[in-house]
Amino acid sequence: MKNDPLTKATAANKVTIAIDDAIEKQNREQKPRGHLGMSSIGNDKRAVWHEYRWSFPNDFTGRVLRIFELGHILEEVVLDYLEKIGIEVHGRQPDQINYSDHGGHFGGSLDGAGIGVPGAPKTWHVIEIKTANDSRFKSLKKDGYKKWSPTYYAQLQLYMHYSSMKRALVCVYNKNTSEIHTERLEYKKLEALGLIQKAKEVLDSEQIPVSTYTDRSWYEIANYKSDEYQAIYWGDELPANVNCRNCRFHMTDIDATHGCSFHQKTLNTEEQFAGCEDHNWLHALIRQHEMVDRITDNQFNTLIRIKDGSEFVNSPDDGKLHFSSDEIRHLYKTDFVALKDEDLLAARKEFGARITDMEKVK
Ligand code: SF4
Repeated sequence: MKNDPLTKATAANKVTIAIDDAIEKQNREQKPRGHLGMSSIGNDKRAVWHEYRWSFPNDFTGRVLRIFELGHILEEVVLDYLEKIGIEVHGRQPDQINYSDHGGHFGGSLDGAGIGVPGAPKTWHVIEIKTANDSRFKSLKKDGYKKWSPTYYAQLQLYMHYSSMKRALVCVYNKNTSEIHTERLEYKKLEALGLIQKAKEVLDSEQIPVSTYTDRSWYEIANYKSDEYQAIYWGDELPANVNCRNCRFHMTDIDATHGCSFHQKTLNTEEQFAGCEDHNWLHALIRQHEMVDRITDNQFNTLIRIKDGSEFVNSPDDGKLHFSSDEIRHLYKTDFVALKDEDLLAARKEFGARITDMEKVK
């Protein structure tokens, strides 16, 4: 979102810049969500896989973060309206109704559960509130909720499945005109079961799923995601940070925990986000090069064999051809051609220098 044109347009305003800086900083400091969300499982499978592995940069602009925040405020406003018309709403914040599956690694929270909906007063409904700008709102009125956002629709199918409610009430608030669009949706068991299976595949897979998008010009990616996000999504760059979720030793354990097979221990969210120096890249992330497991220097090592056949080791050890995962993250941007730079290799060896940045090779 770095290229957000509206943010640039307000660049002369120092107050706006200060607000943006403050909320962007606060957002960057937040730890990513630990579980796979029911709110996103309807998305492109590759994007969901990367999200679960914390691959993408936390780089929303201040303006976009304010849009998210306004959406949360309007959710509460609309829930108040529903109560005003006599709907009994349960599970409002801070007493949200949560559901989880797959050992606790797949989860979601309802905006509310309600009874007394006009037209079907005796039927319990999952309640979901969304907001939209005028252009998106017009598309919604033309297409209906399911076509308008398959991801939002998927989220509701899961909420109905796990709550055993057979109906959902969605209210979408137009942020330009304050018009409210409402729809009632029906539970579709097969759709919910398909999504639950998709979640399991995302959690279990060490392979990067095939992209839904046939090429790089698809607007969902090309128009809405930052350059860094796109580079990671298409495999031109490694994930934005080194953490346990993108380490080959990470395990998603069945009892809602995460583990490390290398250190033989469970890991909390903070530990996973911090990673450790023994990190080894998940093999699938090193694309267009081969990962080879071999005993070298009397120990088990993962070697990366690049296109010209030469090999080096993904290891924090102090050897000429041993590179930590963070160094590899930078070298990857050069397609590893920097490894042919004898001056660089000599500086590493003689002064203990480490690679901390590299220009991307076009
Ligand atoms: S080796 Fe380190 S980075 Fe990898 S999973 Fe274990 S603790 Fe995390």
